[in-house]
Amino acid sequence: MPQPALDLVIAALEKIREENDRAPRASRTALARLQDTPVAASLREVCTSPPGRQLQAARDKADLLAAVRERVGACTKCAHLACSRTQTVFGVGNPDADLMFIGEAPGADEDQQGEPFVGRAGQLLTRILKAMNFAREDVYIANILKCRPDMPAGGFGNRPPTPTEMQTCRPYLVEQIDIIQPRVLVALGAVAVEGLLGTRAAMRELRGRWHTYNSIPLMITYHPAYLLRNQAPSEKRKVWEDMLQVLERLERPISERQRNYFL
Ligand code: SF4
Repeated sequence: MPQPALDLVIAALEKIREENDRAPRASRTALARLQDTPVAASLREVCTSPPGRQLQAARDKADLLAAVRERVGACTKCAHLACSRTQTVFGVGNPDADLMFIGEAPGADEDQQGEPFVGRAGQLLTRILKAMNFAREDVYIANILKCRPDMPAGGFGNRPPTPTEMQTCRPYLVEQIDIIQPRVLVALGAVAVEGLLGTRAAMRELRGRWHTYNSIPLMITYHPAYLLRNQAPSEKRKVWEDMLQVLERLERPISERQRNYFL
């Protein structure tokens, strides 16, 4: 294709990208044919980078989240937690994520680092995400509670949040979900379910099937910490099967290797 014609194609693709929610698409064959031309790189970039509206939406959501984060950082609604925390743990990830994970509360590692799911359970969550072909930056991760539940003096480990603490902090999570508007939510563990839905039930009754939160499909699965305590392959497989359902719901391609995968 002569250069002027290619310039016109690139300009048209850029216009589509700016004005639409979806990036323009080019077949692999078409891109392969253009491989050796000097404009191939420009075409590839136009066809693979996020479209303009999508970028703008992500920026707007990041600004809105930053405003909530600021309020959370100064929050003292639970006086006992505001005194004991090192810092609040707001949430992390893509403000425009399709997929959002919800855990219960920061533990000691998270309290120190200011980021959710960074301890051993967090590392396992990162591995699960990788197996789903996601990076942590692709999804959004938050907890019901933004402060670490305090421990008695000399106490060891972490404690689950109380119903009152969860009710007090829940509005911040609701705001996060309202801003991000993910296509799919995943609640990790029974405490997260209780905090989000106010429902108390055994995980074996809740997990593995679709629920909804404000019209958003919600998958409930075991907390990664449970998998660290219970190393039975059958339990790990259950979590992975829940994640396969999530991938299907998001219309993500699932390879044969992924179908047969065990965490
Ligand atoms: S747990 Fe939530 S509501 Fe309570 S002090 Fe921390 S940020 Fe505020």
